[in-house]
Amino acid sequence: MKSVLVGSEGFEVVEIETPRPGPGEVLVRMLACGLCGTDVEKLEGRYRGSKPVIGHEAAGIVEAVGEGVAGLEQGELVVPHHHVNCGQCYYCLKDSPTMCPYYREYNFTPGGFSEYFIVPRWIVERGGIHKPPPGMSPIQACLTEPTACVIRAVKRITAKNPESYAVVGLGAVGLTFIQVLKWMGAKSIIGLDINPTRLAVAERYGAEALNSTEGDVVEVVKDLTDGRGVDVAVVAAGPPQALSTAIKLTRRGGQVLLFAVPPHGSTLPHDISDLLVREVSIISSNAATDQEMREALDLISRKIVDAEGMVTHRYRIDEFGEALKTFKKGAGIKIVITP
Ligand SMILES: [Zn+2]
Ligand SMILES: [Zn+2]
Repeated sequence: MKSVLVGSEGFEVVEIETPRPGPGEVLVRMLACGLCGTDVEKLEGRYRGSKPVIGHEAAGIVEAVGEGVAGLEQGELVVPHHHVNCGQCYYCLKDSPTMCPYYREYNFTPGGFSEYFIVPRWIVERGGIHKPPPGMSPIQACLTEPTACVIRAVKRITAKNPESYAVVGLGAVGLTFIQVLKWMGAKSIIGLDINPTRLAVAERYGAEALNSTEGDVVEVVKDLTDGRGVDVAVVAAGPPQALSTAIKLTRRGGQVLLFAVPPHGSTLPHDISDLLVREVSIISSNAATDQEMREALDLISRKIVDAEGMVTHRYRIDEFGEALKTFKKGAGIKIVITP
């Protein structure tokens, strides 16, 4: 089978033997797998959060199950979650499930950008293989994991009845934030990006779109919020400058939600005293649990999150290099790899 793996210098497309599921494991035939910013960072050696396995936003059909696996039928569409927490350790019991030491221990083998991959027993046993509602396409289904991460991030906001939001960066993640926040009743969402296509889509999803290269965005956002700034600003772009912009757009006492992964080693390019003087809090959110995976499937199946509308590019496994080029150019919105 064909598989895209992390090589010594970037990626490599290899031909390897199709794995067989051991006891408790499940073999999935991949139908769609989203390309995520963390995949690109792993390929460039800039991401240190987990092991260098790429391809985690996967959907596919059950090809074979190992001994002892119940409740999964060969041929059914599934969305396996690549990380599952233990539910019993200190972190899990203190409501930090994605910080569980077991959470990042397990992943797909050899990864989601493969014609077939194994879901390990740890994940299968803990209910990490999800079944989409009838009628969902693999393309829709592969957006479950990123949508789940957005849902969990929104839950982590503690500001009281926020009315105004800014979303800095309008890739698939930023656009998903807009749709989820809108659905939750946000009165005003301002989306910032430099890409006109993304800005147009943000507008279609109900946001006020601002081109961040035109004029003083901080002033514009203040004008749009009675001179205050937004209650909550979401950082949905990796460069540290996006975090600094988000802080500037936030009102006194407001919250900044750090979601996109900054490159390893980046520091905050902002006067830290400003955070204290204006009492701006930074909340980070990293990954999601299976509860949010289920909620994401629900939002996608009800078209509250327009999964298919955000997928602008599809590439086959052996076109992975092209996919990467498109990603780095910042063209389009969501890129999906298919077999
Ligand atoms: Zn992702
Ligand atoms: Zn745990």
